[in-house]
Amino acid sequence: MELTSYKEEIVLYDAGGTPINTWVEVRIDPLTGDVSRVINVPLRDWSLPDLEKMARETRENCPFCPEHLGEKTPRFDGGILPEGILRRGKAVLIPNRFPYDRYCALIILSESHFVPLDAWEAREVFDGLMIAQTFLNRVLERDDAVNAFSLNWNYAPHSGSSILHPHIQLSVGAFASNRGRRLMEISYSERLKGRDPVEELLAEERSRGQRWCGTVGPWCILFAFAPRGRFFEVQLIHESVGCFPELAAEDVESLASAIAHCLRFVPHMGFSSMNLSLFSPLREPNSFHPMVSISPRACVGPYQMSDISFQMLIDEFFCLFLPEFVAARFRDEWGEEEISR
Ligand SMILES: [Zn+2]
Repeated sequence: MELTSYKEEIVLYDAGGTPINTWVEVRIDPLTGDVSRVINVPLRDWSLPDLEKMARETRENCPFCPEHLGEKTPRFDGGILPEGILRRGKAVLIPNRFPYDRYCALIILSESHFVPLDAWEAREVFDGLMIAQTFLNRVLERDDAVNAFSLNWNYAPHSGSSILHPHIQLSVGAFASNRGRRLMEISYSERLKGRDPVEELLAEERSRGQRWCGTVGPWCILFAFAPRGRFFEVQLIHESVGCFPELAAEDVESLASAIAHCLRFVPHMGFSSMNLSLFSPLREPNSFHPMVSISPRACVGPYQMSDISFQMLIDEFFCLFLPEFVAARFRDEWGEEEISR
């Protein structure tokens, strides 16, 4: 598979006439064709919110802490979930009080009000993913008219999260997310022509090695060639086609382990917030490789400048880190041998 990028060398001049050499690298996403730009901008210190302070201030009125759960949180209709809510280990699935799709759930991942990113254990993530899988299969049994789901995680306020208590958002309905639909439609249409573009991407990245960070079970860890987000995008891609609701528990266990590794890497790079999204068909097991994408989020002080600008309107991202640099840091920290098993 070809990985396409264009580097522009640009010369400007300062007030005294001295040349200023700079550059921008335009990269094309090998799956979607979307453009990302790696830009040469000096990194300013981004401000990290005081999450310990926020935890102390918000814990008392948190609707997701065990002593309050059920007081302010709703239950599902018996037709879709006779139990009203689901529990597995410490994870609890409840309805989202403010739905944005036909079935909208929140998965509370921990009894702790605040779990720092470097303290996540695979077991907590595993229970959360398994309860998501159970819910999706319950919906599939009862509603023939749902076609897509979306699983996402906003961690801490700079990622867009309004409640610090760790929770995943899961929605099921008629329409896929825009990016999910693009990824899956391209994979499907190329497979009709006899190609598997995701398999080609994995083979290419594995052989190049610059962005490749090893495997956990069937999950390949790599940094996106054309990242979304301001800093980096790490992807966990299943080596085979499949769909999340049908994944074997051992595959989900490996995914949880890989996610926990990646969560611990986010603070290692100096961030304390992140977004996570899972892309997978709801029903069709033969058209797409399930994948997870994780990207850190931050604001730049002293006025809390957002890390997303007009990029949200043009649907394009300007990235401050070279993905190869971040991947090397990831490999230095954990090493490919430790990741692989
Ligand atoms: Zn709480």
